[in-house]
Order: sequence, then structure tokens, then C-alpha cells
Amino acid sequence: MKGYILKDMTWPEIEEALKTAKVAVVPIGAQEQHGRHLAEGCDSYRAEAFCALLAEKSYPHVVVAPTVNYGISPHHMDFPGTISLRPETLMAILEDVVSSLKQHGMKKFLFVNGHGANSSAIAVASEKLAREYDVEVAHTKFVDAAKGVIQEHIHSEHFGHACEREISESLYMAPHIVRKDLVEKSDMNTDTFAYKYMNNDFVKVVHQFKDTTHNGNLGDGRQGSFELGEKIIQTALDNLSTFIEDFAR
Ligand SMILES: [Zn+2]
Repeated sequence: MKGYILKDMTWPEIEEALKTAKVAVVPIGAQEQHGRHLAEGCDSYRAEAFCALLAEKSYPHVVVAPTVNYGISPHHMDFPGTISLRPETLMAILEDVVSSLKQHGMKKFLFVNGHGANSSAIAVASEKLAREYDVEVAHTKFVDAAKGVIQEHIHSEHFGHACEREISESLYMAPHIVRKDLVEKSDMNTDTFAYKYMNNDFVKVVHQFKDTTHNGNLGDGRQGSFELGEKIIQTALDNLSTFIEDFAR
């Protein structure tokens, strides 16, 4: 597989790669509970695997920085194993990555996020870094680049975490993290204030995940498949590699 993955490269190899690579891609994930059927590194594994595919597709215009394997997950702390960063910590890590790579000549950055709750901090960091470091910064929650496919194929009322979408993506990119014999539907906690307001378009209530789901997952994982994962990932790859060709110019 071709593609510039910085953690697998020596400095002379990186020196050579930087002659053509104009965009540094930074995968960002999380260590957080994903129900009984997905390993807690799900968002990190998916972000990292997606960026490796992007590096291959956008070769030789992209280098991939090591994955940020932690994210902002205080809402999952009631389940064992979750490790959460403060938003300030994530923003500080991104600042140090940008500042380091800028010293090696990189001026364009794409943050590729695998975990929804990271999005606000990534957006704030992006604004700040672009202005303060005089670099170009773009950011994406990469599945947003496949919204059409998701709308067409996913019909659960609540989804987006340890659901058929994440199971499908994992089956396609990191099958070892799926507990295939344990895949189940969500067991929603419907009597709570948090549940009542979890999906509306006018107000967001900060809440704990256990107040919306007992088993930690949303949607119906049983509807997930390798084929759906392939559709989502290939569509997101097409859209983001097209963006990168423009951004790299
Ligand atoms: Zn996830």
C-alpha cells in the first residue's frame, strides 16, 4: 500500500515526501465505550484507517500524522474504560502538531475526526490555528462526506454511536474490533429528560449517555454490513480526495 504515513517513515523518507506532499492530515479519535459489540478504540481505528486510505488515494499530496487516540468523552464516563480529554487538552495537542509540522514546511492541514463530540473543540482550534500560525486549516467529521449514502440506508430513529453505521464502517476497515456474536439493538432509556430532547433541531442538552441508552449504543447494529461500510467509506473517500486535490494546489 502506498501513502505517506509519518509514524512508519524515516526522516530521509519524510524529507523526500515533503517535496510533493502539501497537506498534513491528522486523524482524531477517542477511547470511549461503544456498547457491548465494538471495542473502545472504534473512533480512533476508523479515523486512522480512513486516513491511510486517503493517503493512498491522494498520493503523493498528503502525509498522515500519528492519530490522536483520545477525544472528548465525558458523557461516556459511566461506562468502564472511557478516557476523556478536556477540550483544552485536545486543542493544545492540535496546536503542537500544527506548530511542529509547520517547522518542517507544512502549511495546509486537514483534521479528520472520527468522534462527533470532538467537533466543537476541533472547530475552535482550527479557527485559532489558521489565524495565529498563518496556515490553512480544514476539518471534517469524515462520515459527513457520505451523508447521502447514510440517509438512504440508515433508518433508525437514533443513530451515530456504536450503531449500524459505525459497525458497517468497522466491518470494512477494522473488523477485529467488532464482536460479531454480540451485535445488538440499542436499549433506550426513554423516561429521561435527556432522551426527550436528544434529537431535536433547536436545543442541545448536555447529558450523560447512560441517560439515553442502557447498553451504551444507539440504532440497530444488526442492520450493519461490510457492504454498507464499503459504500460509506468509498463515497467519503471520493469526496475528501477531490477536496484535497483542490486544497493541495
Ligand atoms: Zn464511535
